[in-house]
Amino acid sequence: MNNDNTSIHEFDFKLICEYFASLERQGPGSPEVTLKALSFINDITDESHIADIGCGTGGQTMILAQNMPGYITGIDLFPAFIDLFNSNAVRLNLQNRVKGVVGSMDNLSFQNEELDLIWSEGAIYNIGFERGLNEWRKFLKKGGYIAVSEASWFTGKRPAEIDEFWMDAYPEMDTIPNKIAQMQKAGYIPVATFILPESCWTEHFYTLQITAQEAFLKKYPGNKAVEEFVAYQRHETELYYKYKEFYGYVFYIGKKV
Ligand code: SAH
Repeated sequence: MNNDNTSIHEFDFKLICEYFASLERQGPGSPEVTLKALSFINDITDESHIADIGCGTGGQTMILAQNMPGYITGIDLFPAFIDLFNSNAVRLNLQNRVKGVVGSMDNLSFQNEELDLIWSEGAIYNIGFERGLNEWRKFLKKGGYIAVSEASWFTGKRPAEIDEFWMDAYPEMDTIPNKIAQMQKAGYIPVATFILPESCWTEHFYTLQITAQEAFLKKYPGNKAVEEFVAYQRHETELYYKYKEFYGYVFYIGKKV
């Protein structure tokens, strides 16, 4: 099958969610990376309020909760992820400080200046990096922090095949200096930026998907949508291995001015 012309936007949202629910993480990342990003953040206390936006099943949220004080609200659009999120919190005895709620990142119900920290790993692309930074800023206290991870180009130019793939999947993909400038323009001091190790996409993300893909194909034999979705994921993985010197995931940490 030639899947080169299929876009990620054409797949059923439910199908995507079911597939990713079977994984511990729904985006590239690792506990080490979460803790590294957290090391740039100061002044979190027992009274602090933190939001993890696009939290998925909460892989990174539980790491945060185990390594810092305060109350964390996880928000995700997909109810099945929130159910898993809340049972993970109970399993780790974090339910008094960690709560998942269903909601959309473009319609958040926090009060102005309620939050000390906004976290979002591999999710802000759903409304766009610039829009997310701008719209979420009002919920942060002055001096509060934002920490988001985002796919970014490492170079000003790259081969057409990979450029076209990502410009279709995520037209806001941009270089690191441009992303930092957007963060500054949105009213944050860029505090730190670092590139996630390749292992976040290889062992922690793509390798784990191999089993999930086989299970998914077995569960839905002959289902064209499932076959195409798996083929798309495999294509994305192949492209990553071929072109990983040109792009990757980057953490951006900012402090509200
Ligand atoms: N932060 C998690 C999940 C990243 S995947 C991790 O790093 O593992 C992106 C997540 O964003 C998914 O869980 C998806 O359901 C969620 N999402 C997509 N659109 C959303 C929206 N409009 N509002 C809230 N969450 C959304």
